[in-house]
Amino acid sequence: MDVIYRYDPYSPIIPKQVSDAAAAVDLLVDGNQRFADMVRTMQMRTMGADAGEPLVIPVCPVTLGLPLYEGAVPSQAPFAVVLGCSDARVPTETVFDQWFNDLFVLRIAGNVLGSECLGSLHYAVKHLADSLKVVVVLGHTTCGAVQAAVDTYLAPANFSDIAYTYALRSLVDQIQIAVRGSAQALKEAGGADIANDPEYRSLLVSTAVYVNAAVSALELRRELRLRGSRQPVVFGVYQFETLMVESLPGKSEEPIDKSQRLRRAPATPDDLVAYAAEVATALLAMPLDERRSATIS
Ligand SMILES: [Zn+2]
Repeated sequence: MDVIYRYDPYSPIIPKQVSDAAAAVDLLVDGNQRFADMVRTMQMRTMGADAGEPLVIPVCPVTLGLPLYEGAVPSQAPFAVVLGCSDARVPTETVFDQWFNDLFVLRIAGNVLGSECLGSLHYAVKHLADSLKVVVVLGHTTCGAVQAAVDTYLAPANFSDIAYTYALRSLVDQIQIAVRGSAQALKEAGGADIANDPEYRSLLVSTAVYVNAAVSALELRRELRLRGSRQPVVFGVYQFETLMVESLPGKSEEPIDKSQRLRRAPATPDDLVAYAAEVATALLAMPLDERRSATIS
């Protein structure tokens, strides 16, 4: 399998145009699909499939956000802010197949909102308002910070190292609301006995990953509205098992439903509760083998 980046200095220079939030979401969803297709092709090749035709990717410095000539300094003009997790397996630009100057990225374990994070966000929406069209929260499956929050919830006595480390606790504490909401949603969707299920911890982690992204999105939406900013906030979860960013466990049916990939932030706490119920129901409705691969943690 050959991947060829081809630069033709005589082809027309077409700057990236992002007209509105819907166009920005389309770029992110389509980029994630390209990334997933590329990795899937490599995986098939590893398993002995035909190499197929070379994949040719035309490149242009301006479209890629690179300086066109020596000494040039591009103006900063990202079309999206992304709040993601620090997890090394989820590099934001790569997951969305975006390049230099496309994304203003905030990464912190568990994609939770801290004051420094909010300061960066306010800087972006104030100084980069012309180019910014959308704000994104990106969680991911098997998140270590969410697992720590779940373990603290299930067995608080065993986690004194977290309890007595303020910096770590501040992360885990912020995720607790998502864990408790997920526990309630699983109980309502699966019955009171679900807490005795041998896979309960994995179910709780898997639900909380989605709900935690939604909590951050709700908070970000409120912050932006308080400051008079109008950029919509959307959220999704990168699934290792499918390589896709989705807002519910499992893979969206074809044709691609882009609103299921990056969903609008909940507007109220009631919306958040309804979303948690939707996630728990979707997870419990998955075939067992599919669910097992989606809940490995
Ligand atoms: Zn994580």
